[in-house]
Amino acid sequence: MADCLFCSIVAGDIPSTEVWSDDRCYAFRDVNPKAPVHVLVVPRSHHLNLAELATGDADLTVALMRGIAAVADAEGLAGSGYRVVFNTGRDGQQTVNHVHAHVMGNRAMRWPPG
Ligand code: AMP
Repeated sequence: MADCLFCSIVAGDIPSTEVWSDDRCYAFRDVNPKAPVHVLVVPRSHHLNLAELATGDADLTVALMRGIAAVADAEGLAGSGYRVVFNTGRDGQQTVNHVHAHVMGNRAMRWPPG
């Protein structure tokens, strides 16, 4: 999609640090990390948010969830635990309108996040 930051990252037009990928999803380090490990996992195709993805493409939704688990394994978080966040819409403070999972760990995560 034109003018989508994460579509440009997936296409390689904007640089990123890859952590993991497959044919449907791409994972890269957040440029402004909020935890020692902070990775964003996105579908390669453009979908606004989790609700739109889940209602539009159930197989890709599962692929994204598996990507999250693969990232947690690759980053050594599976044993210690981690947090997965999908910021959605204005009140969720979603700033990039291409669905993305934040995978954060390597420290105890505060709850509630505020
Ligand atoms: P959200 O606020 O949930 O939409 O999250 C967007 C995330 O994208 C933020 O955590 C930003 O730090 C991150 N971000 C913005 N630009 C880039 C970039 N060029 N490379 C990696 N992460 C980015």
